[in-house]
Amino acid sequence: MYDLILKGGRVFDASQKLEGTQLDIAVTGGKIARLAANVNEPASQTLDISGRIVTPGLIDLHCHVYHGINDHGIEPDLVGVRSGVTTLVDGGSAGHANFGGWSEHVIPKAKTRILPFMHIAKNGLSTMPELQARTDIEVENTVSVIKANRPLVQGIKIRAIGPTVPVLGIDIVKLALQAATEGGVQLMIHIGDFYIKEPTLTRQLLPLLREGDILTHSFTNNPGRILDAKGKVLPEFFDAQNRGVNIDTAMGRFNFTYEVAIKAIEQGVKPDTLSTDITVPGRRDTVHSLTEMMTRYLALGFKLPEVIAMATTNPAKALGKSDTLGSLKEGREADISVLEEATGKWAVKDCAKAALTTDKALAPVVTVRAGEVFMPDWGPHPWGWLPEQVN
Ligand SMILES: [Zn+2]
Repeated sequence: MYDLILKGGRVFDASQKLEGTQLDIAVTGGKIARLAANVNEPASQTLDISGRIVTPGLIDLHCHVYHGINDHGIEPDLVGVRSGVTTLVDGGSAGHANFGGWSEHVIPKAKTRILPFMHIAKNGLSTMPELQARTDIEVENTVSVIKANRPLVQGIKIRAIGPTVPVLGIDIVKLALQAATEGGVQLMIHIGDFYIKEPTLTRQLLPLLREGDILTHSFTNNPGRILDAKGKVLPEFFDAQNRGVNIDTAMGRFNFTYEVAIKAIEQGVKPDTLSTDITVPGRRDTVHSLTEMMTRYLALGFKLPEVIAMATTNPAKALGKSDTLGSLKEGREADISVLEEATGKWAVKDCAKAALTTDKALAPVVTVRAGEVFMPDWGPHPWGWLPEQVN
């Protein structure tokens, strides 16, 4: 007797080279017990999901869910299990001085798995710009709070932008890298400045990134973008990509444009992951949901299996957690997303309000997190989950 059987879905799982095979999934004790055609044993609950897409639980590699502590932190389960997402990676909402809020106030209330990066700025993103002076960075204290909060801390985050750039230059990145190295964690680095036009640090910071570090907002069109003035991808960027730096394309309100994406992809840039950078205002204004972010990549011409991998197996790999996340293999924790692939005509906009149209769009149907079943909330638009319809 199983706890749950999901029957008849089309399974996409890059870790098992599955691209739409019809299989049933049986769950027991919060784990995936069987993945096979026609599982007919009894179960406490059986959901008929014929024709739906089934994927490893979606992972949003960059979002902000320090809910109730800072003003833009969105409620984790709203953008998590009630949006088809089982793992949320917070992009450094808290620094060492307020990191304790995660385990005290946020994580115990959430059903969604939360993996926070720790900001190199001591108070995280509670006030912005978060780096205003050298005294906002305390490497020693950061390292000791990382060590005290293992394994919760996923890595160190820095936004390599803002008023300290002309004053301290690349030293802010070197200090973040020092904290990550001494703490034994990875670095996530934000490019795309909206405080100052120049100088920018992108060309100097790319050679410093190590294999396994994460470059986020890779398709920003703000100062510090990965294209030079003539629209050519920086050679330092390709060196980083070839070295094994994870190329993330978080959107947010300001840092994702099709113009840059198309130029970069044409020149051989291969984004690994497609996260949202969702916040309270971002969900309202621009990025809306992880499934809508996936739909943007369908509109860019990516194939469905690639898009699903960019929100499942690839972010799991970027986190160094391929052995526990991003797969529907038997024995894994039962984090499963069931999605609708709708057919119609929609417009999906970027941060510059440029639109692409698409005839396929994704929306959440059912989420399973550690074996527990969640139905999606209404969705971020007045009409629900799907993007804006066009004629
Ligand atoms: Zn962010």
